[in-house]
Amino acid sequence: MRRTKIVATLGPTSEPEDVVKGLVEAGVDVFRLSFAHGDLPSNIERLRRLRQLAPEMAIMVDIPGPKIRAGSFGSEPIALGYGDEIELVAGFGETSTHERIYVERDGVISALRAGDVIHIGDGGVSLEIVTTGTTAKARIISGGAVLGKPGLSFPSSIINDRLPTPEDRERLEALRHEDFEFLAVSFVRSAFDMIAVRSVLSREDVLMMAKIETAEGVENLAEIVEVADAIMVARGDLGVRMPIEDVPHLQKEIVREGIRFARPVVVATQMLESMTHARVPTRAEVTDVANAVFDGASAVMLSAETAIGHDPVGVVETMCRIVERAEENFPYQKWGSQLGVQEVSGTRSEAIRITAAMTGAAWRAAMEEEAAAIVACTHSGMTARSISRFRPPMPILAVTSSVKTARQLRSSWGVVDVLLSDKTDMNDLTDIAIARLKETGLVETGDAVVIMAGSHGSGQSTTDTVRMTIVN
Ligand code: PEP
Repeated sequence: MRRTKIVATLGPTSEPEDVVKGLVEAGVDVFRLSFAHGDLPSNIERLRRLRQLAPEMAIMVDIPGPKIRAGSFGSEPIALGYGDEIELVAGFGETSTHERIYVERDGVISALRAGDVIHIGDGGVSLEIVTTGTTAKARIISGGAVLGKPGLSFPSSIINDRLPTPEDRERLEALRHEDFEFLAVSFVRSAFDMIAVRSVLSREDVLMMAKIETAEGVENLAEIVEVADAIMVARGDLGVRMPIEDVPHLQKEIVREGIRFARPVVVATQMLESMTHARVPTRAEVTDVANAVFDGASAVMLSAETAIGHDPVGVVETMCRIVERAEENFPYQKWGSQLGVQEVSGTRSEAIRITAAMTGAAWRAAMEEEAAAIVACTHSGMTARSISRFRPPMPILAVTSSVKTARQLRSSWGVVDVLLSDKTDMNDLTDIAIARLKETGLVETGDAVVIMAGSHGSGQSTTDTVRMTIVN
């Protein structure tokens, strides 16, 4: 059983029906739709179609915030050579070339100054502004290949918009009645940004994922994690807005902070980038994916690899193999025994504190008795997310009557969701969960199973009971 989850970004090469089905079979847990590309009505159509194609899957909608993108370079790489001159021109829906980059944002080119450096995409290619006006002339100072619609890292002083941007506000309003599980919020700089976006979306059933990708996001990490439901280490932008050598250390820090608050943490970008074209990944990429597992990531994410890559299903199969191999060497006992107390905040803090305390007891009992599984009866998913922090070696079976919760738990490390059609009492739940575990071969007669649930009268959101049972 693979414990670290896989998020795959959909795009032109992965949206045909047979590819979506192939990706589900290959092991994708969460599909990500970036709303940075295409217009809003067509993105809403993509979302509805995906929901129909994959009703059991979790869907993450990613809103781009103030990110500025280039007009598309097309699906084949275009070389931008060191020293080449290139023009920047404002324009929407135009095709960029090796001579001219269209900038899909009004009013930003004239704010540039000679000497400003702009990174294209995730940082490999950069240009330096030479002259400015309504268009700008620039020189390539780091050459390489570009394709698709890469982001352009304009200086922060030019894009200092608060969230949500007017375009994101429109997207949020259009998303208000759509069926999806996660909203990934780009360029979050403070808790206030997350709160503002949450209040415009106005949906309690959607988990809000803060993408940490700016210096301010790193500086305000604790307050952001406190108000977010999930976190993404968005290494693409993070690596152009912070010194690149800081990225591995920031990844560890952000993952740790997410785990402290029991938030799922996704490590994203360039994980198997070379497989956008190549059949096998580089050794460095394989090592990077394995290291994300060792850092404790809840999930690892594929971007261009699955959105525009030549073999999206093959990439996911490769990622599964790397993750499963890394998990064989994960230090399960050491991780759980060194874990600090869960940080608790918010309106339901008493219920969460009780649940968090019980998860420690459940983990210890499960480890001492070498239990075959931990069953977490959960309404919002909080109990399963809390026990998942401990990264136990045995599966965490999350039993829930909420379709949304079941899908949202697809992002949580080690959690297998079991959807029950209606609410039953704890004894019945336990029997059903154990029967399900036996069916799937995860437990057999004589195995110990630890069960976490709420007692009668404790309210559906408080887990205050830990039981151990031997399967008969
Ligand atoms: C990133 O910058 O790493 C990221 C995940 O964001 P996007 O893919 O939207 O650029």
